[in-house]
Amino acid sequence: MSENNKPDATRAAKLEPLRGVKGMNDSFAPESARWEWLEGQMRGLLAAYGYRNARTPIVEPTQLFVRGIGEVTDIVEKEMYTFTDKLNGDQLALRPEITAGLVRAVIEHNALYDGPLRLWSIGPVFRHERPQKGRYRQFHQLDVEAMGFAGPDIDAELILLTRALWKRLGLKEGEDIRLELNSLGEPAERAAHRAALIAYLEQHQALLDEDAKRRLYTNPLRVLDTKNPAMQAMVEGAPKLLDFLGEDSRAHLQAICTVLDAAGLAYTINPRLVRGLDYYNRTVFEWVTPHLGSQATVCGGGRYDGLIAQLGGKPAPAVGFGLGMERLLLLLEALGLNTADGAPDAYAVIPDATQLPRILPVLEALREQGVAVQMHAGGGSFKSQFKKADASGARYALVFGGDELARGEVALKPLREEGAAQVTRPLADVGGWAQELQNRRNA
Ligand code: ATP
Ligand code: MG
Repeated sequence: MSENNKPDATRAAKLEPLRGVKGMNDSFAPESARWEWLEGQMRGLLAAYGYRNARTPIVEPTQLFVRGIGEVTDIVEKEMYTFTDKLNGDQLALRPEITAGLVRAVIEHNALYDGPLRLWSIGPVFRHERPQKGRYRQFHQLDVEAMGFAGPDIDAELILLTRALWKRLGLKEGEDIRLELNSLGEPAERAAHRAALIAYLEQHQALLDEDAKRRLYTNPLRVLDTKNPAMQAMVEGAPKLLDFLGEDSRAHLQAICTVLDAAGLAYTINPRLVRGLDYYNRTVFEWVTPHLGSQATVCGGGRYDGLIAQLGGKPAPAVGFGLGMERLLLLLEALGLNTADGAPDAYAVIPDATQLPRILPVLEALREQGVAVQMHAGGGSFKSQFKKADASGARYALVFGGDELARGEVALKPLREEGAAQVTRPLADVGGWAQELQNRRNA
């Protein structure tokens, strides 16, 4: 027997527990119940607008994001998790956002052949950033895309959809969350603005930080997106893209504003809103909150009419947004909204396990009626089972005691209401009282 295999050695060497990856989170109930609730709200709302679910891989070729998002962006330069597939040498990346993968899939499956598409997807994305509240290395996005639509009507629809989501969640639009809007114009308009911007930045060389100097000629628009306080005043005075927009771009923005005005949705036109991805043109927007410090943007999106062609597809316009699920959950938590805990309606206390053959069919029947019932497993005293019932968060204990069973009944003991009386119900007619347990849930 080798040294390592000796039983004594095994007992002595306590293994260090393995830890999860920094900036990547686990979630258990009740927090996971709030995720489920939020995702449920989103699914319902997206269906109401005719958007359909799409699912694409978490891993894509690195080149997809280099071509799609742009080489001179924070994401591609510093934040993307890339690796070489050991078996075949392929260059792969964990997706840092969902749009590029969806566009790749739409092209690959010729999915725009039959006309425009309204799509959504929810899932994890990965960015190597410094973890802090509201900023993680694995986080989750709701991604919503409308592909094949050129008009401002669809931009407005997406913005109204996000507003409807806030309303559903109980957020006060304008107070808890507000809309900023801008237009990035068309490539030619951007080129004219870019020339003016470079000239302006060259005049202020001394104020530029490292990032800005590097981007001065590669991506000067992104210099305006700086978070460096020392550059704010200089950036404020830079030539504004809005002043370089042509008639069509102006009309597009105006049409969106007209719809938003008619819908009573307040917004700010923010000429400095450029967003962190290169693929946008015309409309860009962000929903920002005052409650999350510097992680203020909950949702951001815009139009990307050039991306589909840039990724090798037949040219088609598109617009969409990405929403940070963690940030939205933090916001709801900060405001005391979304308190879903996912607790069962009832917890079955089973003092005598030999009675299970009589009890289990009752529990099955309750579940068929839509009641969530957690069965006590593992025996134990009456008292210890009640402790578990209480800890489960259930509103009722279903007590299958000897006396009750002898009478063909079960006792329903309220666990959450002070002074509420226990009642008994017949085992033979579950359908007649199952509803009572659920009414309480909806109350
Ligand atoms: P930020 O300026 O905060 O870095 P971003 O412009 O990089 O955001 P997008 O690429 O537009 O963000 O992603 C869409 C949404 O995803 C953001 O509005 C935000 O809510 C969320 N998000 C972005 N990065 C993170 C992250 N590291 N952790 C958690 N949520 C994030
Ligand atoms: Mg970012």
